[in-house]
Amino acid sequence: MADIRDRQPSRRRLLHLSAGAAVLLPFAGLVRPGMTRAATPACDPTPRQTAGPYFSPGSPQRTDFSGDGPDGDVMVLTGRVLDTACRPVAGALLDIWHADPAGAYDNQGFHMRGHQFADDAGGYRLTTLKPGLYPGRTRHIHIRVQAPGGPVLTTQLYFADEPGNDRDRIFRPDLVMAQGADGGYGFDFVVAK
Ligand code: FE
Repeated sequence: MADIRDRQPSRRRLLHLSAGAAVLLPFAGLVRPGMTRAATPACDPTPRQTAGPYFSPGSPQRTDFSGDGPDGDVMVLTGRVLDTACRPVAGALLDIWHADPAGAYDNQGFHMRGHQFADDAGGYRLTTLKPGLYPGRTRHIHIRVQAPGGPVLTTQLYFADEPGNDRDRIFRPDLVMAQGADGGYGFDFVVAK
């Protein structure tokens, strides 16, 4: 008896599916080879930007730069690394560097520099101090992102409503971080694999 009761909802679901299929069938004929891409989730690759002159190879693995000083505003940046089919890239490498709150890069050591690996859901999280301004640029964060065995994506992230954005020749609005109600920043990267 239990088996029969269990089957009944399944049959109802099947009927619903049949009705849905009947509705969808007229559109199925509209899908031609050139259109199949539109039906597949697609994520546009994150735009590339110059690394600038201050990248240092060999940064330590860490996710918190906030103790590097000088005093500044703590900020948290989170997001995911996705491939061009919008699938999470577990183990993606993220190498991040930026100016300190006074606008200076540490070119002798690794203050405000570090790398980490995305988790199984492609997620990453960085706690740091909001970068300061230096002459000629708007406020920004440098980053290199790489899927395991994939090409390196070098780019920069920007802050919304920053007065210097309009005067910065490198700035791109599609590289502006989202900002949540909690004050946290967010950005999802899309990389080739
Ligand atoms: Fe810079």
